[in-house]
Amino acid sequence: MSFNMSSGVERLFTVELKKVEEKWRPWIDFEAGSELEVLGECPLCGADVVESPLSYGCSRWDEGCEFAIFKNSIKRFGGKMLSKQKARELLSTGVTEVTIRDFDGSEKRVPLLLDKDFGCRIDFKGEER
Ligand SMILES: [Zn+2]
Repeated sequence: MSFNMSSGVERLFTVELKKVEEKWRPWIDFEAGSELEVLGECPLCGADVVESPLSYGCSRWDEGCEFAIFKNSIKRFGGKMLSKQKARELLSTGVTEVTIRDFDGSEKRVPLLLDKDFGCRIDFKGEER
C-alpha cells in the first residue's frame, strides 16, 4: 500500500489492525529509514504530533493518548482537507483560519480552534459577519 503524503513525497507503509485496550486501531508501520515529521506538541501529553493517513495525531496513541486532528474535520462544512501547515499553526498558536461553505453555498472564513477532545473545532461565534 502506498500513500501520498501532503508534501508530495510518496512513502510506502503497511497498515494492520492492532487491538489496544479492547479497541481495534490501525497500526501504521512506516518503512525503516523514513522519518516522521513532527508537526507540533500534543496538547494533552506533550508528545510529538505526527501525520498519519487520516489525521495529525499524537505519537503516543499506542500508550493511550487519543489526541488527533482529523484531516477531514471540516469537510462536512464544505471545507478542504486540513493541510500540514494548518495543523502546524493549530498546534503552535491554538487557532488557524479555514474556509467553509455557508448554507447558501457562499464561502466564508472562520477560525478553527484547537480542541483537546475533538482535535479541532470551528468557532462559529468568531466568524466575521
Ligand atoms: Zn498525546
